[in-house]
Amino acid sequence: MQQIIVLGAGYGGLMTALQLEEKVRNLKDVNIILVDRNDFHQYIHLSYEIVTGVKKADDFIVPISELLEKRKIQFLKATVEGIDLVHKTVRIGGGDLWYSKLVIALGSEPTFFNIKGAENAYCVCSVESAVRIRDKLKELGGPDQNVNVIVGGGGFTGVELAGEIADELKCCVTIIEGSNMLLPSWSIPEFSSKVAKVLEEMGAKIELNKRIAEIKPDAVVLNDGTQMDCSVFIWTGGVQASTVVSQSGLKTGKGNRAVINEFCEAADFPGVYVIGDCALVVDPETKEPLPQCIEIALQQADSVSKNLFADLTGGKREAFIPKFSGLILAVGERYGIGKVAGVKVEGKVALMVKKVVHLHYVYKIAGITEAIECV
Ligand SMILES: Cc1cc2nc3c(=O)[nH]c(=O)nc-3n(C[C@H](O)[C@H](O)[C@H](O)COP(=O)(O)OP(=O)(O)OC[C@H]3O[C@@H](n4cnc5c(N)ncnc54)[C@H](O)[C@@H]3O)c2cc1C
Repeated sequence: MQQIIVLGAGYGGLMTALQLEEKVRNLKDVNIILVDRNDFHQYIHLSYEIVTGVKKADDFIVPISELLEKRKIQFLKATVEGIDLVHKTVRIGGGDLWYSKLVIALGSEPTFFNIKGAENAYCVCSVESAVRIRDKLKELGGPDQNVNVIVGGGGFTGVELAGEIADELKCCVTIIEGSNMLLPSWSIPEFSSKVAKVLEEMGAKIELNKRIAEIKPDAVVLNDGTQMDCSVFIWTGGVQASTVVSQSGLKTGKGNRAVINEFCEAADFPGVYVIGDCALVVDPETKEPLPQCIEIALQQADSVSKNLFADLTGGKREAFIPKFSGLILAVGERYGIGKVAGVKVEGKVALMVKKVVHLHYVYKIAGITEAIECV
């Protein structure tokens, strides 16, 4: 019996399990187990829209039971606590599960770089966390009650979140960013200044070159000692791969992401594949790490499911070559900017492209009916 365990039913894990099941359906003695702490898949990349109430949580989750209907995949709702790579077992609440092959796709989690008072911060890293922010904003009573939101981090998520709040809730939003520009990892100064202008026109404030030293329940303290009061503080300033990756003893690099070989296997552990946000995927041309994004997670799922099938049937594996075509950023409901396959898109067109890309993801995950319902 071959037992393939897939950890995480996000973009990477779910697609690996679904694609692998199609391939091994007629093979005997192959068991696929998918594990996630939630019994639903989340369209996590749009969760910031829940914060303002524009969308409901239900709009961005799909029950796993629906996705696995008629599939020979066993689903376990459980939290993964650790992996014993030597004895080939996964530790979950109820005990240990053995595996012959493993796929680690547990996504990422916020990291605070030792900033004091992290427990006072909200994060937008899942549908549930977005619901918590929405409920807090509701409890505070909205813009008339002088609600003052500070977003820590002016990267992709911070900008989309601040734009959504400024546009929809019209309450006071300030982005605090440590570097001298918004979207520093994008490294396109033209995009950064355009986005800053749009945010400021929406009423958001931007504080650059400011570092947060402490988060209090009702304020943040900057490195220079200045205190900025706030009703809600949302941290978007850093993510790292799931701590399960580093705690299991896998070799890691930037952002705690596992170092992988050309087949997406963890260094030194054949048969242990690591994909999505947990993996350090390097651009073949620049040799720089690629951003953690859905496109790469889905490409890895495709490659790993094929290579697992090759493992099981004695076939030849193929090296994974990532193809990153770009990201599109939404700033509120009226402006977007980004690059797709090297082509710049801006304004409402960019928002339309972002919507089409989302529909493509929904189609891949849940099928045509679900995608049509989203239109
Ligand atoms: C607010 C936000 C906006 C984003 N916007 C974009 C965007 O516009 N475009 C883009 O391409 N990417 C975007 N991303 C990034 C994108 O969502 C991720 O790169 C992608 O989801 C990675 O897929 P994954 O399979 O690695 O992880 P995920 O899709 O995050 O899935 C991880 C799964 O593991 C489960 N899990 C985690 N830990 C455990 C555990 N210990 N035990 C059991 N289960 C566990 C989780 O419940 C989840 O289902 C955004 C992310 C966020 C948070």
